[in-house]
Amino acid sequence: MNLESTQSNETEQVLVVGAGPVGLWVAAELALAGVPTLVVERAVERSPHSKAMGVHPRTVEVLAMRGVEKEFLAEGGRVPTWHFGMLDNRLDLRELDTPYPFLLSIPQLRTEQLFERRALDLGVRILRGHGVTGLTQDDSAVTVELDGPDGPYALTARYVVGADGAGSTVRKAAGVDFPGSDATTFGYVGEVVLDDPPVPPVISAHNTDGALITVPLGGGRFRIAGLDSVRQGRDDGFTFEDLRATTTRVAGSDFGMRDPGWLSRFGNTTRIAATYRKGRVLLAGDAAHMHFPAGGVGLNVGVQDAMNLGWKLAAQVQGRAAPGLLDSYHDERHPVGLELAEHTLAQTALIGAATPEQRELRKLVNDLVGSVPQLNRALADKLSGLDVAYPGTHPLVGKRFPAAAEHLHRGRPVLLTDLEEAADLAARLGFETAGGPGAVVVRPDGHVWWAADEADTEADVLAGLTALGTTF
Ligand SMILES: Cc1cc2nc3c(=O)[nH]c(=O)nc-3n(C[C@H](O)[C@H](O)[C@H](O)COP(=O)(O)OP(=O)(O)OC[C@H]3O[C@@H](n4cnc5c(N)ncnc54)[C@H](O)[C@@H]3O)c2cc1C
Repeated sequence: MNLESTQSNETEQVLVVGAGPVGLWVAAELALAGVPTLVVERAVERSPHSKAMGVHPRTVEVLAMRGVEKEFLAEGGRVPTWHFGMLDNRLDLRELDTPYPFLLSIPQLRTEQLFERRALDLGVRILRGHGVTGLTQDDSAVTVELDGPDGPYALTARYVVGADGAGSTVRKAAGVDFPGSDATTFGYVGEVVLDDPPVPPVISAHNTDGALITVPLGGGRFRIAGLDSVRQGRDDGFTFEDLRATTTRVAGSDFGMRDPGWLSRFGNTTRIAATYRKGRVLLAGDAAHMHFPAGGVGLNVGVQDAMNLGWKLAAQVQGRAAPGLLDSYHDERHPVGLELAEHTLAQTALIGAATPEQRELRKLVNDLVGSVPQLNRALADKLSGLDVAYPGTHPLVGKRFPAAAEHLHRGRPVLLTDLEEAADLAARLGFETAGGPGAVVVRPDGHVWWAADEADTEADVLAGLTALGTTF
């Protein structure tokens, strides 16, 4: 990378801050739409530790919409059940209404590598070792201050996406409030070899001393993640002996653990950005929502933020967007972030249940998850991201439409119709077109944008398509 070319006085179209999974995916989406995009990343090298281990069904659908799911599916293990709040009774993913009814087990490190390769292939420029330290904005541009290998410098960009994680400098510098609650509980994660692993290898254990789950990583290595009630309120580091002690107290054995790798602690601070858009600054992923990693959903929700934002911001930058399109990013994704905050708090309460009252509540919820299929399904839909539907006047509008995935690879909307004139108009607007009864327009992020009823005439359909107001 020639630094001079990126540190010129030219205004960048979009500057993405942070080369985590969310920054990389939004940058790839922008580049797919033809927007020159620069990513700046403070870390010189990517962390070798994978926080997330799971890609949920809706995220696999997102990958399929861009035609890149096969490599993930080839590498990842398919897990047919998942947990809610580390309950013993697991959520059954097998009957979910999706082509991908499983959790795909793939480390975050690998997800990021694959996202980065896609972004680079699409022409995104990535600068590592360049950290944002501040920004100011006016009506026409954002001026971003950075610290790079050669010292401080500034860049201007028409728009900035803050995908710089929970401690987001972009969010703070843009003056976006981050209301919520401080940590009251600290969980842990440790990766070790287990010489005497549990049978089956994935277990949930819970008693008054805490809760934990075990997840095999391959080659005899396991991840143990949980919450140690004895150490509540303490965030004072986490050693191999701490992991051995809490595992023994909660699961009754240390499973012959040895060779510790990554050991870390994390709190349940739960906050959500008051707005996902402040002028020319957009927030996505952990920069917009911070929560306890219960249920393993943060990366997934972040990638879905990026999918919602990418095509809208591209249309805005290229002057093709209908009024209000970019603002709809906040309107649609902020409620999803709020719900994420709510269910991770609820899960944290179940995981940390220690008093007799809390333990009875946990037992009750566990029994219900095991005996009421509708409840099991609703929670599975929630964690897998399949229950996200944006508001709309027609019953189909805002819903997912996975059947359109194969037509969305170029990141353009698709009109599925048997009406010839409507197909002609859609093609002139830059939409993909494909056959189908009636008329349904699916947005580039796979949610229905517009739909006609049987009673609608071709003239109604033509008017509806024109009213969408955004071209491609
Ligand atoms: C123990 C644990 C387990 C988890 N398990 C799961 C799971 O199974 N499934 C799941 O979906 N989620 C899981 N998560 C959450 C998931 O890891 C995060 O939600 C995800 O990493 C968010 O991605 P992001 O790109 O928004 O932010 P990050 O991954 O935090 O990336 C932000 C990037 O921005 C860079 N950056 C920060 N500040 C600056 C700056 N000023 N300038 C430039 N660059 C900057 C950082 O170096 C980083 O590379 C887990 C989290 C933890 C802690």
